[in-house]
Amino acid sequence: MSTSYERERTVAFEAVQAAAELCESVRDEKGEVLQKDDRTPVTVADFGSQALICRALLAAFPDDPVIAEEDSSALRNPDNAAVRDQVVDHVRAHHENAGPEGVYTWIDHGTARRYSDRFWTLDPIDGTKGFVRGDQYAIALALIEEGTPQVAALCCPHLPNPLDADDPDSRGQAFLAVRGEGTVRRPLHDEAEPAPIDTSDTTDPSAGRFTESFVSSHSSHDLAAEVGDRLGITADPIRIDSQAKYAIVAGGTAEIYLRLPRPGTDYTERIWDHAAGALTVEAAGGTVTDIHGTPLTFTHGPLLKSNTGVVATNGPLHDRVLEALEAASA
Ligand code: AMP
Ligand code: MG
Repeated sequence: MSTSYERERTVAFEAVQAAAELCESVRDEKGEVLQKDDRTPVTVADFGSQALICRALLAAFPDDPVIAEEDSSALRNPDNAAVRDQVVDHVRAHHENAGPEGVYTWIDHGTARRYSDRFWTLDPIDGTKGFVRGDQYAIALALIEEGTPQVAALCCPHLPNPLDADDPDSRGQAFLAVRGEGTVRRPLHDEAEPAPIDTSDTTDPSAGRFTESFVSSHSSHDLAAEVGDRLGITADPIRIDSQAKYAIVAGGTAEIYLRLPRPGTDYTERIWDHAAGALTVEAAGGTVTDIHGTPLTFTHGPLLKSNTGVVATNGPLHDRVLEALEAASA
């Protein structure tokens, strides 16, 4: 990697790895889980991760807005004092003078919602359901300039490398991508320097593997199976939570990530669920569009308003996958 965005990538890469440490220590303690108004779970680790990362961004780039998933309102509710205390304790392990007010301020630094020419987007824990279940999750941070992700830091604290490794020390991978300059990976439990990764160079779709959401309400497994059949794919899909799916396409373990709206639903994707992952794949040589082949457009605030679903591939297979999807959807 050359030297563009040097400060941004150093700050972002360190911040997601510190947040990963916090998340894993919360998971060891089985911290509390709250339900948000939309009935999705949020944990001590979501708040703690957002506090740590927004604090780092505020210190390094005070003028950059941050569009992040969480805000402090639930923590300020006296009914949730136990959760708040756990969040503050975990943040204190990294910043010993932290108190509740500071933690609220850092979390709420991530509540920007308007598009601007330069901003960050953060999912402090992507795949919270996977986190709670003991499966995959990710911490996803991206810098977006003029509507395009330029720097991405993606940390998958529970992702083994290779994917079938069962040694606990093989779990945990951090990825850093800079547009046009490549993607690197570093194992979390190893002093190794980050090393470049590339998408698979497979041009035969039938030799490909695809990955999709573990949670079937987030993506149509049936339609994906039909796309797989049309491409002649025989391998079972890799069903995992979070942007770890982008990570395994970036590293060549899978060729295709399909996120296909279920028929009859009209969910609009959130930018923090895709910005970091998409750049991690693109900088590693892959291609990312929506299901119609439209590039992802990060100019509408928190929502991917001009896009429907996501298709991420190794690159060479992209057009074939879009054709198979169009035929399967007809
Ligand atoms: P995944 O782990 O890839 O299944 O995605 C987790 C993300 O899915 C969460 O962060 C949510 O923002 C997002 N999500 C929630 N509901 C839906 C839905 N109906 N369709 C697609 N994504 C969703
Ligand atoms: Mg998410």
